[in-house]
Amino acid sequence: MACSGLRVIVMGGSLGGLSAALFLRDAGCDVSVFERSRTPLAGRGAGIALNPATVRYFTLHETVAVSAISMPTRRVRYVGDDGGSAAEIEVPYRFGSYDVLYRGLMDAFGPAGYHLGRTVAGFEEDAEGVTVRMADGGVERCDLLVCADGVRSAARAWLAPDAQPEYAGYVAWRGTLSEREIDPRTFDLLRDTIAYRLMPDSHMLIYPIPEVGESLRGIERCVNWLWYRNVPRGPAFDALMTDQDGNVRDVSLGPGAVRPENVAALKRDAAAQLPQWLSDAIRRTGEPFIQAIMDCDVPRMATARVALIGDGAFVARPHAAAGTAKAAEDAWQLGLALRATGGDVPAALREWEPRQLALGRALVERNRRAGSRLQSGAWPVGAPLAFGLYAQGDSVMHWACQAGTA
Ligand SMILES: Cc1cc2nc3c(=O)[nH]c(=O)nc-3n(C[C@H](O)[C@H](O)[C@H](O)COP(=O)(O)OP(=O)(O)OC[C@H]3O[C@@H](n4cnc5c(N)ncnc54)[C@H](O)[C@@H]3O)c2cc1C
Repeated sequence: MACSGLRVIVMGGSLGGLSAALFLRDAGCDVSVFERSRTPLAGRGAGIALNPATVRYFTLHETVAVSAISMPTRRVRYVGDDGGSAAEIEVPYRFGSYDVLYRGLMDAFGPAGYHLGRTVAGFEEDAEGVTVRMADGGVERCDLLVCADGVRSAARAWLAPDAQPEYAGYVAWRGTLSEREIDPRTFDLLRDTIAYRLMPDSHMLIYPIPEVGESLRGIERCVNWLWYRNVPRGPAFDALMTDQDGNVRDVSLGPGAVRPENVAALKRDAAAQLPQWLSDAIRRTGEPFIQAIMDCDVPRMATARVALIGDGAFVARPHAAAGTAKAAEDAWQLGLALRATGGDVPAALREWEPRQLALGRALVERNRRAGSRLQSGAWPVGAPLAFGLYAQGDSVMHWACQAGTA
């Protein structure tokens, strides 16, 4: 194979890191993944709108049918003041969740080569390879280091110290509800619909996602909502992002970490500002959680033997629903470049970097524009959604809406 014997270390074992591990292993590389977390990752049930790039590994290898691990919708409904339909567009999307994607990629990669509880602490690059220093004192050597270490990437700080993620001025409150928890009429409506509610300074969306049981065969449908709310930087943001132990977080507060008074205020605001069936979904959510919305541009994604991918490079706001797709696309393109250069790492990274920089820049910019319109009442009711990786619209998944196709 093109890259036979090439040693690759992947820093970060989430969706971007696992995608890289799989595509580079396919190219013939010998891949080890080092993940900081001591326990297998879980995404708090968070929903992920799919793009063909997000599920490329599954469609190429047929390890699992995409139709079996995702939920289809056929229409977008803009919700009016009375809770009814203000406008509808017939367009098919598919929705997965962090947990099903992680499980599917992990099942494909297998436990050998995936190391939990191992934090990369630094690296030194020379002409022949990269020496990777671990926080536990270990030292590893590789030909290529792929850094998929997320929004607060240490690797980005080493390679591009001036590129700092910036808070966009609003947060996403999120929650999931099982069939048992939600009003049956809402559950029924969301069988094939994603609903949007636009407001002068916020917007909410709600859609079906899969809930994973013991295995990927035990998928059930549940519902995922997001309410994007403007929160100015400063005391209001700090008070919201202070967890139950009194620590101020800068990126996210997981389920159970949000202070009860902030959850109570969310539910009061929902009752006052949202149509009844949407506020009811929030009211019924036991442990809503929060993600601060960030942007980050990077001037570079590679040295001769180190690559930044996914949120470890550009961080895009979520309105195009393509962050995971971008991570997977960075990984796929890296595999193609390595194959094309016969495993010549510096040549592959020279070929790979400009295209991925262009993709990241365009996606960050498109999301900035969408976010500022969605959060200021300027997004037109009935307009096509911003979903898409390379362009608005490329997340439409006609092919996957037929039952039984992958
Ligand atoms: C509100 C919201 C909604 C979203 N909705 C969608 C959507 O619908 N569709 C979509 O495609 N995307 C969506 N996204 C984006 C998506 O969640 C991210 O872009 C994607 O998960 C990034 O994956 P990643 O692997 O690059 O980073 P991460 O998932 O952040 O993983 C980074 C990993 O690196 C590990 N790590 C960090 N430092 C080290 C170290 N020093 N050593 C070893 N390991 C380390 C971490 O523990 C972590 O596991 C959304 C994002 C938000 C905030």
